Amino acid sequence: MSTAKKIHLSENEIPEKWYNIQADMPNPTLPPLNPGTGEPIGPEALAPLFPMGLIMQEVSQERWIEIPEEVREIYKIWRPTPLFRATGLEKMLDTPAKIYYKYEGVSPAGSHKPNTAVPQAYYNKQENVKRITTETGAGQWGSALSFACQLFGIDLEVYMVRISYDQKPYRKSMMNTWGARVLASPSETTESGRKILADAPDSPGSLGIAISEAVERAATDEGTKYALGSVLNHVLMHQTVIGLEALKQLEKAGDYPDVVIAPFGGGSNFAGIAFPFLRHNFQDGKKTRCIAVEPASCPKLTKGEFRYDFGDTVGLTPLLPMYTLGHTFVPAPIHAGGLRYHGAGAIVSQLLKDNLIEAIALQQLECFEAGVKFAQAEGIIPAPEATHGIAQVFREAEKAKEEGKSRTILFNLCGHGHLDMSAYDDYFSGRLTDHHLTDEQLHSGLKDLNTPAAT
Ligand SMILES: *Cc1c(COP(=O)(O)O)cnc(C)c1O
Repeated sequence: MSTAKKIHLSENEIPEKWYNIQADMPNPTLPPLNPGTGEPIGPEALAPLFPMGLIMQEVSQERWIEIPEEVREIYKIWRPTPLFRATGLEKMLDTPAKIYYKYEGVSPAGSHKPNTAVPQAYYNKQENVKRITTETGAGQWGSALSFACQLFGIDLEVYMVRISYDQKPYRKSMMNTWGARVLASPSETTESGRKILADAPDSPGSLGIAISEAVERAATDEGTKYALGSVLNHVLMHQTVIGLEALKQLEKAGDYPDVVIAPFGGGSNFAGIAFPFLRHNFQDGKKTRCIAVEPASCPKLTKGEFRYDFGDTVGLTPLLPMYTLGHTFVPAPIHAGGLRYHGAGAIVSQLLKDNLIEAIALQQLECFEAGVKFAQAEGIIPAPEATHGIAQVFREAEKAKEEGKSRTILFNLCGHGHLDMSAYDDYFSGRLTDHHLTDEQLHSGLKDLNTPAAT
């Protein structure tokens, strides 16, 4: 057994195929519905928004989907990403648990997002798309897609959630560097944005609102398509390069995880690291626990309802089956901007409903405390989103210590926090607080929701 700190793979070990969990789910996801008729929609209904190459992946039941050579070539800029044994952290926590982390912060944009941004830009380019619109929360997705669109010569327009636009100006600078146009959302440039601003001129925005604006632009402009950085099936599938590499790396280390942990916004980095291990749960009787960690201020997995809902705030997307707090729910402006989304992807929602994965909600102070300790033990400063996974790792490591039993924990360090140091400043100066949602706040987005039940 290797005791190496960092477990390497060579370039030719970058996966050649993405893993599509739809082929192996015990219960398939329910179909998306047309909100007007309540009838299931076919792939053609998505054609105004996405290129056919991605739509076919969205509905594919094939277990393995070939990664185009051009995409693998670009992946080589930062993949394979390193897998680390967290020896410093194990020592600090004085735990019998073995802790590994897959580090996705080595990508040009600093997170896992380019794993899907590059193939999305590629398939749009294949179909001659000239312009893409998208939304971004903390700016991670917007910067990843800016990078990818720049490589393929596609124009990009990014609707950035207002609060992040103000709090995270450097993410905007990154997007501009990679040639994208960035607008604060809600904006005056779309009907959706104008409608929100009329009711709430000081709206901090939300991912749901920004999605409405970007979707509206793509739906009303012939040559423009839309791209989403999480939630959808094809996005989750592109991220499985993370877990597929981690499997190989752990094999080299002679290990296999008892627990896999990742933070949860819409589900893409969680899916990326967890699905290849879930495959072995389904097929080989392995019993790896996969835990999604969401913020207590936006607890759709642990406190939401499983039902049909819109992906955006205004109600322009098809209805998707998901755990949701309601599409009008506006989460508190916590620093983990990438986790402020009202819903969850259809696949992860179905897996949770079937008890095949676990979910937990954590408060941000516990997360930042764990994130700082992690940085002190391992050197890497985690993105605020990533600290949610780390805090859960601390809990599992503590449990191992109490029980006097070892276990192998793998978590996804989905991004670095170098552009989020103002959040760390707020934490150090005591300006950061936990958020306790009242029942009224929790149900604010659900009580008037008249979308169909998901059965
Ligand atoms: C976008 C993002 C997330 C949340 O999105 P998922 O689709 O749930 O992965 C988490 N962490 C980072 C660093 C992100 O950029």
